[in-house]
Amino acid sequence: MVNIIKEQKGNVLSVRLVGSIEETVSFDQIIGQTGGELHVYCKEVPRINSVGVKGWIKYFQTLQQANVRLTFFECSTAIVEQINLISNFVCGGTVESICVPYSCGQCKSEFIAVFKAAEIKSMGQMVPELKCAKCSGKAVFDDIAEEYFGFLSR
Ligand SMILES: [Zn+2]
Repeated sequence: MVNIIKEQKGNVLSVRLVGSIEETVSFDQIIGQTGGELHVYCKEVPRINSVGVKGWIKYFQTLQQANVRLTFFECSTAIVEQINLISNFVCGGTVESICVPYSCGQCKSEFIAVFKAAEIKSMGQMVPELKCAKCSGKAVFDDIAEEYFGFLSR
């Protein structure tokens, strides 16, 4: 079940998706049609299944055809996975920022940091070491850079 938090400012509609995207999600119903620009915040989407992916692409393609400017923010790891798998997943939209998984080498805790796509690109598809909030140890990117950041070189 997905909840949506919407905010309209001028011609920009911002929507925050909260929850897993599965069979029951009808984007037409929960977001509806919009003109101008749509900003989609995806940090709180823990998973999306294959039916959810179909519904997602169908909905955002309709907006793409209607010339809505799409921008995706704070894409969760589940969303980044789909962006890498399906070249058309963002339907002509822009990926502004993504969630990057980290793990601490010392206490093993895992966390997410948000980076701008342009920032990761400018660092050569890499992200810096971060300080662990729990133990102040060194936390490093916890995935395979060529795969996770692969979409940036498309
Ligand atoms: Zn730690």
